[in-house]
Amino acid sequence: MTSAVAESPALSSVPESAPSIGLIGWRGMVGSVLMQRMVSEGDLAHINPVFFSTSAAGKPAPEFEGSAPETAVLQDAYDVEVLAKLPIIVTMQGGDYTKEIYPRLRAAGWGGIWIDAASTLRMSENSIIVLDPINREVIDAGLTAGVKEFVGGNCTVSCMLMGLGGLFRQNLVEWGTAMTYQAASGGGAKHMRELLNQFGHLHGAVADELADPSSAILEIDRKVLSAQRGELDASQFGVPLAGSLIPWIDADLGDGLSKEEWKGGAETNKILGRGESLAPGVDRRGDSIPFESLCVRVGALRSHSQALTLKLTEDLPVAEIEQIIAEGSEWAKVVPNEKEATMEQLTPVAATGELTIPVGRIRKLEMGPEYISAFTIGDQLLWGAAEPLRRMLMIAIGKL
Ligand code: NAP
Repeated sequence: MTSAVAESPALSSVPESAPSIGLIGWRGMVGSVLMQRMVSEGDLAHINPVFFSTSAAGKPAPEFEGSAPETAVLQDAYDVEVLAKLPIIVTMQGGDYTKEIYPRLRAAGWGGIWIDAASTLRMSENSIIVLDPINREVIDAGLTAGVKEFVGGNCTVSCMLMGLGGLFRQNLVEWGTAMTYQAASGGGAKHMRELLNQFGHLHGAVADELADPSSAILEIDRKVLSAQRGELDASQFGVPLAGSLIPWIDADLGDGLSKEEWKGGAETNKILGRGESLAPGVDRRGDSIPFESLCVRVGALRSHSQALTLKLTEDLPVAEIEQIIAEGSEWAKVVPNEKEATMEQLTPVAATGELTIPVGRIRKLEMGPEYISAFTIGDQLLWGAAEPLRRMLMIAIGKL
């Protein structure tokens, strides 16, 4: 194998012909899950990973089961010359990194494939949002047409489409709204730590009272509120999340909409190949579907939930709707709209770590026979982030 970068230690059983793949952001939340999934699926047998870092270049590169790094030390993620030698780069580093490096790489003449978790390039006219169980034909058309930017979708959108893809693909959704309940880890590793520290702090503030069953509940309430308002470190989220919620996610677009809410409609349609702003070579598959959201950060650790209202284009029996959802992808699972099944199967705790996307609370609404509710949850680090990128890499190298 011609090493893309520095000296390669003779390790692993990866074939000589396997491509060298740049991996950036491998130790973050999304990156860690991506590496875990690549190990479980045996993907590393098909690639020679070159690990990069924005903070620890020169330190030893990580080794994952089933492979070995192509270079023994971490490469500098800001070194365009080194990056430009790679045919494919997968980054989970974040939007600021993409904003800085991607244009420089292209300006340096790099013609490789860029696979990215950040939102920066999602709505670029040259990019495709990847979610292959839903839009494989869009991805294939793009590859054939020479598209080189493949971006993972917004986590909430991808999880929603993995659950309800059957309805969308059969053109059964006239419009929809999502009220989301998004987990702390959606913000990244530091946000997850902050929430846990806040929980710990709140518990500490009332541990004595909790140990005494006869202590006054209003005193506990007062002390917790006082800690929430004055003592908690909220440097990541800006305000306390433990024992509270934050009904705003991502930037303020200035028109009453958060960027996360805007993504709901824009990305859903782009993934489905509807509306405008499709990459060259991708045929338009119909008009945009109006899709609105109200996005809320809650104190769940991992897995985003959403309560949906959909207006269908037809009055279908609930059993048929459930069947279409269940058959929409091998990962969608209908949870019966009953208390016990819902409590056991339709929570972030149940969904976390699972590729299965449970969809429940399906019923007709009083507004009319075409209106339904549904509730779905997805591990946003799997289908909402790492899994579509992992699969896109395998598609790009002809292994999926
Ligand atoms: P993250 O956990 O903050 O990791 C990003 C980078 O932060 C790491 O690659 C690492 O870079 C650096 N870092 C600094 N301190 C760290 C620590 N204590 N632990 C781990 N990494 C640390 O970010 P992320 O949540 O993975 O998000 C990455 C991108 O994916 C973002 O664009 C995000 O919007 C997108 N995304 C995230 C999710 C989600 O649920 N979190 C879902 C979909 C998309 P160095 O090794 O170079 O220092």
